[in-house]
Amino acid sequence: MDASRREFLKQSLAAATPLALSAPRGDMASGNTLPGMPAKSSSFEPAYLKTEREGRLATVEKQLWEIFRACRLCPRACGANRLKGETGFCSSTSRLKVYSCGPHFGEEKPLVGRGGSGTIFFSNCNLLCCFCQNWEINHRGDGSYITHEELAEMMIGLERRGCHNINFVTPTHVVPHLVRSLRIAVRKGFRLPLVYNNGGYDSPDVIRMLDGIFDIYLPDFKYQDGTLAAKYSSGAADYPQFAAATIKEMHRQVGELAVDARGVARRGLIIRHLVMPGNIAGTDRFVRWVAGELTPTTRVNLMAQYRPEHKAFTYSEISRRITAEEWHQALLWAKEAGLKNLDL
Ligand code: SF4
Repeated sequence: MDASRREFLKQSLAAATPLALSAPRGDMASGNTLPGMPAKSSSFEPAYLKTEREGRLATVEKQLWEIFRACRLCPRACGANRLKGETGFCSSTSRLKVYSCGPHFGEEKPLVGRGGSGTIFFSNCNLLCCFCQNWEINHRGDGSYITHEELAEMMIGLERRGCHNINFVTPTHVVPHLVRSLRIAVRKGFRLPLVYNNGGYDSPDVIRMLDGIFDIYLPDFKYQDGTLAAKYSSGAADYPQFAAATIKEMHRQVGELAVDARGVARRGLIIRHLVMPGNIAGTDRFVRWVAGELTPTTRVNLMAQYRPEHKAFTYSEISRRITAEEWHQALLWAKEAGLKNLDL
């Protein structure tokens, strides 16, 4: 073990503190800060416990490792044999790489509660947007390799620290690792709900396999137009259709957001949508899609914090923040569509 990795694990496992000096920028969704100690909810049972009792967790894990042999974990479907060290578009092999772990108080209020969301950031990404605010993690792949046992210990450490959930950020390309680590953690008494926090570019087949494992889904729905998705997110022209299909499947599995008596999320779907300059994200179409294809009461986080990062300055049209008029227009579209559960 080299010195930097040893230091990484020391920090993570001893105190479950963030390894970065501050939380990665792109995940500061709502700015809710409620520090303090949480109360425990004794009646809650996370979905994966039943799945494990039924023996299905082991089956799903096996199926997910099989996918690694010719990777099609996401719509890129590179076909790389990651078990043999080959890399696909996401630059990931079969090894598990983590950038940071720690309580996060900048997520949506129902995820944060008083104890924080136990956030674990995985290195690399399968979408790679040109305006990525976490480009050091997602594009450059900053982070350290860890074992399944070490990831399980991180999860348990965050639970002991009082977090309300384990929030896996950018998990798409590492899901077999997550299920393996979850099984280890469960044997040690881990009981927090899991959050699948992704960019919206997933395989519906893989999301179906995760039924009964994740209690909370937190996907982005970034674009409605495939041409724009391809332009700004590394050729992902099929992003809108895959995001729509996977979010519908997530909604089928967990339904609308349910919270406990403290207002802490226990199960359900929260969709994030980043409002972009010049309505590049298609906000008007997005809010109508949610109301028509899901329900008007689906929890939606419309986000105003777009700012140009990474290679966004290559494109003049996204080299600026959104204006107050653009933000007010987005809110008006949401109102006109009949959305009733905005996370503002
Ligand atoms: S997860 Fe990575 S290797 Fe697998 S299909 Fe997606 S981009 Fe390719």
